[in-house]
Amino acid sequence: MHRTTKVLVIGTGFSGLGMAIELKRRGEHDFVVLEKAADLGGTWRDNSYPGCACDVPSHMYSFSFEMNPKWSRMFAKQGEIFDYLKHVAEKYRLRPHIRFNTKVSGAQWDDEAKRWNVTTEQGDTYTAQALVAGVGALHIPNVPELPGIENFSGKAFHSAQWDHDHDLTGKRVAVIGTGASAIQFVPKIAGRVASMKIFQRTPPWIMPKADREINGWEQKLFRALPFTQRAYRNFVYWTRESSALGFAVNPKIMQFAQGIALRHLKKQVPDPALRRKLKPDYTMGCKRVLISNDFYPALGYPNVDLVTDKVSEVREKSIVDSAGVEHEVDVIIYGTGFHVVDSFDYLDIQGKGGVDLAKQWRQEGIETYYGITVSGFPNLFFLLGPNTGLGHNSVVFMIESQIRYISQCLQLLEKHRAAELDVRVEAQQEFNEELQRKLTKGVWTQGGCKSWYLDAQGVNRTVWPGFTWRYWMRTKRVRAEDYVLTTAAR
Ligand SMILES: Cc1cc2nc3c(=O)[nH]c(=O)nc-3n(C[C@H](O)[C@H](O)[C@H](O)COP(=O)(O)OP(=O)(O)OC[C@H]3O[C@@H](n4cnc5c(N)ncnc54)[C@H](O)[C@@H]3O)c2cc1C
Repeated sequence: MHRTTKVLVIGTGFSGLGMAIELKRRGEHDFVVLEKAADLGGTWRDNSYPGCACDVPSHMYSFSFEMNPKWSRMFAKQGEIFDYLKHVAEKYRLRPHIRFNTKVSGAQWDDEAKRWNVTTEQGDTYTAQALVAGVGALHIPNVPELPGIENFSGKAFHSAQWDHDHDLTGKRVAVIGTGASAIQFVPKIAGRVASMKIFQRTPPWIMPKADREINGWEQKLFRALPFTQRAYRNFVYWTRESSALGFAVNPKIMQFAQGIALRHLKKQVPDPALRRKLKPDYTMGCKRVLISNDFYPALGYPNVDLVTDKVSEVREKSIVDSAGVEHEVDVIIYGTGFHVVDSFDYLDIQGKGGVDLAKQWRQEGIETYYGITVSGFPNLFFLLGPNTGLGHNSVVFMIESQIRYISQCLQLLEKHRAAELDVRVEAQQEFNEELQRKLTKGVWTQGGCKSWYLDAQGVNRTVWPGFTWRYWMRTKRVRAEDYVLTTAAR
């Protein structure tokens, strides 16, 4: 099947759905959304592990134009966020635009026709004037190649591909990793497994989680007087925004928050030997800051062990650590996160002159303009692209800023009757120099850790350095002078 469309959107998470809504809002109905899975929802469809929830309050972690007065908790669980996204798709009648089970395998820019030619694994082809990639920053599970894993005869799966048919009751379970997902699912399963060995490489900073049910009267108030919900959302936004000071301006400010986290650790872990293993030796914020009230207590269960020696070998029914201790296990659960800086290696995008985007980024480092456009790749737009992730606030805020920006770019094309919009190399270079200058001052570089925010050269290609309102201000209006607009050859 071949189809020509004006705008082709990839992905149906917050990014793809938000973009589709914006297109409809401005009267553009000639667009198609491609989704590789059988359902929409992205992160919130894939991550169904026990205990999965957002870690930015739901009143902020949702679209600003589609507030949900019915959130049942401060930090909604996966099912509720998944339902919210499904509700959004229904309300804005997005489903007719979505092609499910359609995985984009490549995109080539046709310099003559000034169009993107997109191919899918299913053999369909699309031609589009603009291509918007909302493929997600955290969606390709990162499964470490543990030595000897091929000999393991038990069950092994990643937290984002949770096997709900596999009953863990009474099983000996190994958990690899103590990141954001692991600290959510460990307390939910620790009580029913026979034993649990948690392999920790680096301890995370963990803050208390200010979670609670949202009362009926609060929900009624939010429904009856939407401005109260808006005010609460703003309160959450500015409270979180203030923490950017410690991340980006002066990492020393983090000492205050570290004090809170250390008191939390002391209160929840009475055993000093275990506490020592759990105390991070880097500045808070260098890696993602986690929130939990039940992870530390779960480590105190008699059937749970925290192993800080590395995995050196996997055998048929066991894991051997670097101290030579053999741990017998039936199941291995990877809480090892996602391919982030290398997630672009999976994209096969060829721009002007057949330049391969992934290859260019591997050789020269990942550079974009505001994480949205890339010089030499006209009419291609990223949502939640490089250096627009956050450690302190809701990425939906960033996604909405990007959607607005892309919408303006499309309007610019129309206004100038242009066929091609390409960001100037100088604008991109200048932006990246400033970006990296700021990032090197921040906690991600100064904090004394190695994180998934950094590429193999130690350069931060993931987070936005600091305040999100700055990003909003700077992307509020597209500077036409930063772009070359070209009309189609006659
Ligand atoms: C467990 C978990 C909890 C999180 N909690 C928070 C939080 O509290 N606050 C926060 O700000 N962020 C959080 N995040 C980050 C989260 O990923 C983003 O907030 C947001 O959901 C990203 O939306 P997205 O649409 O950009 O990407 P995704 O939700 O990842 O959606 C991408 C979509 O693109 C599809 N796709 C990818 N490649 C292709 C292809 N080649 N062809 C077709 N379709 C494709 C995928 O199937 C998917 O549906 C969390 C992430 C995880 C994993």
